[in-house]
Amino acid sequence: MEKILSEEKLKQFKTLLDECTRVVISAHVSPDGDAIGSALCMANFLRRKGKQVTVAMPNIFPDFLKWMPGADSILVYTRQQGQARAAVEQADLIIVCDLNQPSRLGGLEQDVMASKAPRILIDHHLNPADFCQVTASEPEMCATGEVMCHLLHQLGELDGISQEEAVCLYAAMMCDTGAFSFNSNRPVIFECISQLLARGIDKDQIYRNVFYTASEGRLRLQGYLLYVNMKVLGDYHTTIITLTNEERQRFNVKNGDTEGIANMPLQMLGMRLSIFINEDTEHPGVMKLSLRSVDDFPCDQMAARFFNGGGHKNASGGKLHCTMPEALEKVQKAIESFSEMLK
Ligand code: 5GP
Ligand code: MN
Repeated sequence: MEKILSEEKLKQFKTLLDECTRVVISAHVSPDGDAIGSALCMANFLRRKGKQVTVAMPNIFPDFLKWMPGADSILVYTRQQGQARAAVEQADLIIVCDLNQPSRLGGLEQDVMASKAPRILIDHHLNPADFCQVTASEPEMCATGEVMCHLLHQLGELDGISQEEAVCLYAAMMCDTGAFSFNSNRPVIFECISQLLARGIDKDQIYRNVFYTASEGRLRLQGYLLYVNMKVLGDYHTTIITLTNEERQRFNVKNGDTEGIANMPLQMLGMRLSIFINEDTEHPGVMKLSLRSVDDFPCDQMAARFFNGGGHKNASGGKLHCTMPEALEKVQKAIESFSEMLK
C-alpha cells in the first residue's frame, strides 16, 4: 500500500478527524460512483467513530447508486437547500471528495468556502487547488476511492473497516475504471481490492447493483442513441452523440440514467474519441459534454480549450451555454483543431 501523506500531514489529518464532532462530506456536481462511494465510505467510517455526519451533494445523483450503504440519507443541495446550508454552517470539519477546485461543488461552493471549519480534500484529479488544510491528491490513482483506501491504511484503520465501508470503496474504484477495464494497471489497485474482499464484500453483487439496473427506458434510449443519433466521423476516429431533454422525456429517462453512454462508441474498432452532448435537465440552455478517449488522446485539453471544462486524459467533461446546434458547431471546431491527433 502507498503512503499518501507526510508524517506531519498525517498527524494533522488524524487530529482533524479525532477532534471534529459535526462533519459535512461533499463531492463534485453530478456525482458519479466514485464521488458517492468515497463520500459514503468516509461518512460510514466517521459515524462508526461516533461523529455526526451529513453527506451533502450539490445536485441529484443516479438511481443506480442509491443502493449504497448510507445513500438514503444524502442531502441534495438543489432540493434541500436549507438543510444542506445549515449542515455546512454548523460543521466543524468539511471533507470534499473527487474534485480539484471549489467551483466543482456547484451551489455548495459559497457556503463551503465561507465556513470557518477546516477542510480536507481527498481526490485524484490533476492540479488540485489550494483551498484545504489537508490535501490528499493523487492524480495517478484510479479513483478517489483508491486514495481513501491508502489513507485508511496509513491511519492504521484499513484492517478494521466495516463491510459497508469496504463496499463503498470498491464501488468507487469499480465505477471510475469501468469495472477495472481502464486506468487500472497499477498492481497496488489489486492489493486494495484484495484488502476489501477480505472484509467480506461481494464484488459480483456490487457489479450487478451498478451495471445491471437499467430501466426499460434507459436500455431503449441506448439503442436509439446508437442507432439514430450517433454520428461517426470515420476520418477522425471520432463519434458524436446528442441527447436533448425532449428525447430524454420520450424515453422517460432521468439525469444520470445516461451514465456510461459516452463510453459506448469506443467499443468500435479504431475509435479514438467519443463526444456525448447532453442537454442539462436542471438547467435548460446548458449543454453538458462528456469526452472519452483511448490511448494518448487528451480529452482534458480539448475540454479545457473548447468546453469550459477539464478532467482526466481519457475522461473529461465540460459545459456550454447554448443550443444543441451551436454545441455541435463548437464540437466540430474542437475536432478540427485536434485533427492531427485524431486522423
Ligand atoms: P462526465 O463525463 O462523467 O460528466 O465527467 C468525466 C470527468 O470529467 C469527471 O470525472 C471530471 O473529472 C471531468 N469533468 C466533467 N465535467 C466537468 C466540468 O464541467 N469541469 C471540469 N473541470 N471537469 C469536468
Ligand atoms: Mn473520480
